Amino acid sequence: MAASFGDVKTHTQPMTTGLSRVGIPPRMIESRRNFISSTTKTIAISSLAAMAQAQESNRVQLSQIHATDEKPETTPTLEEPDKQIGYAIVGLGRLSLNQILPAFGRSKRSKPVALVSGDRDKAKKIASQYGIRDSAIYDYKTYDNLADNPEVQAIYIVLPNSMHAEFVIRGAKAKKHILCEKPMATSVEDCEKMIAACAAANVKLMIAYRQQYEPNNRAASRLLSEGKLGAPKQFIATNSQDQGDPTQWRLNRSLAGGGSMPDVGIYCLNAVRFLSKEEPIEVIASLYQPTSDERFKEVEASCQFIARFPSGLTAICNSGYNAHKSQVYRIECERGFAEMNPAFGYVGNKLSWTQLVDGADTKTQPSIGDKDQFALEMDHFSLCIQQNLQPHTPGEEGLQDQKIVAAIYESARTGKPVKLSVPQKPTRGPEPKQEE
Ligand code: NAD
Repeated sequence: MAASFGDVKTHTQPMTTGLSRVGIPPRMIESRRNFISSTTKTIAISSLAAMAQAQESNRVQLSQIHATDEKPETTPTLEEPDKQIGYAIVGLGRLSLNQILPAFGRSKRSKPVALVSGDRDKAKKIASQYGIRDSAIYDYKTYDNLADNPEVQAIYIVLPNSMHAEFVIRGAKAKKHILCEKPMATSVEDCEKMIAACAAANVKLMIAYRQQYEPNNRAASRLLSEGKLGAPKQFIATNSQDQGDPTQWRLNRSLAGGGSMPDVGIYCLNAVRFLSKEEPIEVIASLYQPTSDERFKEVEASCQFIARFPSGLTAICNSGYNAHKSQVYRIECERGFAEMNPAFGYVGNKLSWTQLVDGADTKTQPSIGDKDQFALEMDHFSLCIQQNLQPHTPGEEGLQDQKIVAAIYESARTGKPVKLSVPQKPTRGPEPKQEE
């Protein structure tokens, strides 16, 4: 069965509106219409049109060399460098060097302009690779001097988990917008302080839940919202990886806040929340911590939890630090099921679904492909800064996961189910718009 939704086909639809005449595909216009509030709509659309016109004048259109019935190539149009949002990257470890910094090369609205590191020699090497001036290298003490660097509008915190709170709060005091890696922090109290600090400084806070910007996961979310498969009943997920070096911070309770659960289990938890658009009302959990294995003297190797939702949906999730990498989820609904395998990778995620059609199971495997999740995530945050929009995954989204993680640990400790209250306000902002 051919896939007929999402990113895959809509680019071929005819353009009919004023905005589409300046090059914005109808799906982008539609998604904007859905989220711009009535009071700000007129202003936002006119600034969008101005931005689109400016971009259109820079567009380079290459001639098509493939058959006309093949998908046309699109040539990306970037914001001019002086209009891109400048980021300071805090912490130059694996994620920063291997994923985030390279992703700037695939982003349209975001550029790296400063580095914060405890290792100046390493930072100088990286700065020279990315065209960052030596004068824009800071350490953890001089970090607050970012306040005096007007090139930096946003800070991306990529430090061990328990350091997020301090660096978000100091960054907010420097009046910079903050993108913070997951998990947001290691306690509910820290999450609340981070949200309050950003609100007091009137800066935006977004938690880097990259899967919520990844095209296959977004397609899964739309599939469920469309209701083709009926109401979700069971969600089953695992996220495991095999940790090596026993001295790494991920296995140190005070730096990591826990073991596999807050690091990789959080993907399963966040996925069931954004797919179902429900919040759990009860969790029951169990931890496995073989202390004879030197890696797990302080934190759990694996965590198994069940979460119950108001509609009757039940999630059964596992996280592991002691098994080969495996990242899968399946959401079972009234008239079919959707699967992601892999579900949480940097690349190669694959959605498929099976639907009951005329009494028979029909499987669909769309070719959605990869886009750089980190570039999409950073560009979403940059757009929110440029147009004063609410991020899709603000601090409240991280706080809610942290509350549930705390309940999971409480349940594992007490051996009893733990009740949760549903947040009074949505924890997520409007859906990100579809970039070309
Ligand atoms: P890493 O160990 O590779 O890098 C951590 C950096 O923090 C290093 O540069 C290190 O020097 C620095 N640092 C400063 N103080 C430190 C201290 N006291 N102890 C240890 N390191 C210290 O870690 P990483 O994999 O880059 O993870 C960083 C953050 O990014 C974590 O919050 C992690 O959960 C998150 N992360 C997210 C993803 C994702 O896919 N979104 C993937 C990996 C990591």
